[in-house]
Amino acid sequence: MLRIENHRLVGDGISYRATPNCGGDLKARYLVFHYTAGRSAESSVESLCTRKPQGNASAHLVLARDGRIVQLAPFNVVAWHAGVSQWNGRVGLNRASVGIELDNAGALSRVGDRFIAWFGQEYGAGDVVLAEHKHGGGTRPWHAYTEVQIERALELAELLVEHYGLEAVLGHEDIARGRKQDPGPAFPLEAIASRALGRTRDVAPAATRARSAVKKSAARSVRKETISAHNTKKKQTVSARSAPAKKPKKKATSARKRLARRTRR
Ligand SMILES: [Zn+2]
Repeated sequence: MLRIENHRLVGDGISYRATPNCGGDLKARYLVFHYTAGRSAESSVESLCTRKPQGNASAHLVLARDGRIVQLAPFNVVAWHAGVSQWNGRVGLNRASVGIELDNAGALSRVGDRFIAWFGQEYGAGDVVLAEHKHGGGTRPWHAYTEVQIERALELAELLVEHYGLEAVLGHEDIARGRKQDPGPAFPLEAIASRALGRTRDVAPAATRARSAVKKSAARSVRKETISAHNTKKKQTVSARSAPAKKPKKKATSARKRLARRTRR
């Protein structure tokens, strides 16, 4: 279980590395998800902790593909993840949001039966989702998120919404339309946002805590279904789609299929 103490995340798999790319008081009202479009969580942490002549970037958290989290700035300090952005009449969302970077290569290019990131790394069909971005552009391959990453993202969204009373859970694509497309269609953003924001309305007083514990476990199964329903509805894995597909190698793919089968029943 994760918790927040003195604007820092505490729990298993959490480490802290201070970025110089931050500053100013933050009173967060929003949570913004991103993908790193990078090679690994380590390389992204390194980049987000480096001063660069061409412009400095950071985020509060980097969420690795194995579920580990590195915090780069406390949640009450402004990090530089949103850039030119707007939401609900407010501009410059760095000053109003917590930013989470998900380790993910982003949009891929298809070359024959291979899927290649902008930095040259190749990904197998089991790590690829074919989908259209909600802002259009046609169906194309995207690097898949891992299941543990999605579970962890949900846990973080719930925790941050509850702790800071956040008003919205957004993607960079929502606040920088036309300029950014992260976290993209492979990430179940709507399902996570509705679970995280719905839960604050459910907050029970101490007297009904026992009942709320029951409700909470019910909520967990609803959440699983919501996310898998999202997965089933919005996209297909490449291996499910291409006719002479090789056996899916990734455990993540078969887990997703199992969930999908369960929802259809
Ligand atoms: Zn972004």
